Amino acid sequence: MVIALIIGCMACCAPKQTESDAVGILPKEPFRGVILYPSDIRSLGAEKLVGILQGAGINLLGIHSNTITEDLDSLRIYLESADGQLLMGLCQKNGIDVEYECHVLKEMLPRFLFDTHPEYFRLDAKGTRTNDLNICFSCDEAWAVIEKSVTELLQWLQPTTNRYFFWIDDSRDGFCYCDKCAPYSPSDQALLYENRMLRIIRKINPEATLAHLAYASTLEAPEKVSPLEGIFLEFAPIGRDYVNSLPPEEYNALKKNLEVFPKETAHVLEYWLDASMFSGWDRNNWTRVPWNPDECQRDIELYRGLGIESFTTFATWMLHQRYFELHGQDEAVKAVDEYSSLLKQSSLSKQGSSQWERKNQ
Ligand SMILES: [Zn+2]
Repeated sequence: MVIALIIGCMACCAPKQTESDAVGILPKEPFRGVILYPSDIRSLGAEKLVGILQGAGINLLGIHSNTITEDLDSLRIYLESADGQLLMGLCQKNGIDVEYECHVLKEMLPRFLFDTHPEYFRLDAKGTRTNDLNICFSCDEAWAVIEKSVTELLQWLQPTTNRYFFWIDDSRDGFCYCDKCAPYSPSDQALLYENRMLRIIRKINPEATLAHLAYASTLEAPEKVSPLEGIFLEFAPIGRDYVNSLPPEEYNALKKNLEVFPKETAHVLEYWLDASMFSGWDRNNWTRVPWNPDECQRDIELYRGLGIESFTTFATWMLHQRYFELHGQDEAVKAVDEYSSLLKQSSLSKQGSSQWERKNQ
């Protein structure tokens, strides 16, 4: 994304009891994850990385591709390498799930098809057909191509959680203004896409669920399109500042989204440890993460107050050998430890969101 836990109070924040308890299998704890690029993982090597994650109690690793700097091919090359294979084995051994958070659309509908099939692509706000971003979300013929590409992708991209993250392009104004798409807001167009995508994925994996990414221009809740069962909310407040709590427009958008999507499966993707974002995605400006556990705790309490239990944060460029050399390995590892501990300790009490509402509304 170029433009971004449970020992304390066992009584109120232990995972929900399920049928699995009856046969003695412990239910899974809520996710406390980090997201990394393949290049981050490669720089440390699987063994060192999993040692850090396991030591911190992280139970989910998300691997990110974005088409621009690291595409699906680079992800696949890593996963099929000896280190990638070692990573998958070590994650499984240490109870760390692995999933993939990827902007896939550009790779599922190649842009060169514009030459022969301009109708696959969007009409921009000026009425010009263009293949700069996304697609025409209403074009059935484009969807036939996407289905073929996704079916191939699913042969090798298999999250251990059954949660899929197949995001559209990373843009603020990349939507379609054709007659069929124009009545729909960016969030509604994204949900049209996600509903169709989930149907495709479920032909291969009937257990699949798929993220609706509420982020940038899709921050507002969809109004005209309803999510299929299995679409879950992923809230990613990119660009916020961390000194202050979540701003009103983002808080209110999150609450609206939680009226459309189930709370039980809602997921937060944060940027608390995202050195790539704090560096402006400029490797010549590899910046120290302004980590502050108090700010993170405040945010977690707010999200938990709204009923959200599943969390990841980008830790791109921070869990990276170069970052360790520039800013210190111990400090980076301590931040991951603290982040994970905060998630283990916080509860689903409404205190965080009530406090926010008293201060801001
Ligand atoms: Zn369209």
